[in-house]
Amino acid sequence: MLRGADRGGTSPARRIGIFGGTFDPPHLGHVRVAAEVADRLKLDRVLWIPARRSPHKPDAELTSDEVRLEMTRAATGGDPRFEVSDVELRRPEPSYSVDTLRALGERFGPGTELVLIIGLDQYEAFDAWHEPDAIRRLATLAVMDRGGAGADEPSAGGGVIRVPVERIDVSSTQVRASAAAGAPLAELVPAPVARIIEREGLYRR
Ligand code: ATP
Repeated sequence: MLRGADRGGTSPARRIGIFGGTFDPPHLGHVRVAAEVADRLKLDRVLWIPARRSPHKPDAELTSDEVRLEMTRAATGGDPRFEVSDVELRRPEPSYSVDTLRALGERFGPGTELVLIIGLDQYEAFDAWHEPDAIRRLATLAVMDRGGAGADEPSAGGGVIRVPVERIDVSSTQVRASAAAGAPLAELVPAPVARIIEREGLYRR
């Protein structure tokens, strides 16, 4: 069992973070937390996985798969640990984490520990996810706690690690609203993402 951020002598050879999201668009909050979790848990890689359609947001209008994939690649260019996977975009919707973890488990093999990175709010609803017990068997859960009280050290137990992360008040919703209002995006998204939003005329009402 993984304990905190300690890799110990018996840890698997590789530890890969799985960071799923709608990424419509990816923003600086995503970039910061992915790096923070990778630092704290000593992840070799963080796979950013744009969801074809989140089972948690079934009605949301989404930017096309191709453009969200392009924006996610653009957002992740600055950190060599980041990689983008289109595994969910190639499957029919909806995107279930358990299916993704099964596919990645086969791809990486038993020497790799998969670490599913999720928000505390998502974790609170975790038992309602598709096959939560299978997810726990396939991956360690890294639960990002944005500035929660007493969250100084990662805590372990039951294959769940709580990872305190800095609170960064940016959301994709906020980026879309700023783009709709014609406000500058420089402090919200990486510059290459802002250029794609502009080029495609995204989020204009
Ligand atoms: P929306 O505003 O459309 O709901 P979002 O900003 O939450 O989108 P998602 O693509 O849904 O973006 O997020 C993917 C993952 O990143 C989720 O686990 C979410 O909790 C997390 N996340 C999003 N914004 C932040 C942030 N500012 N700090 C830390 N984690 C974040």
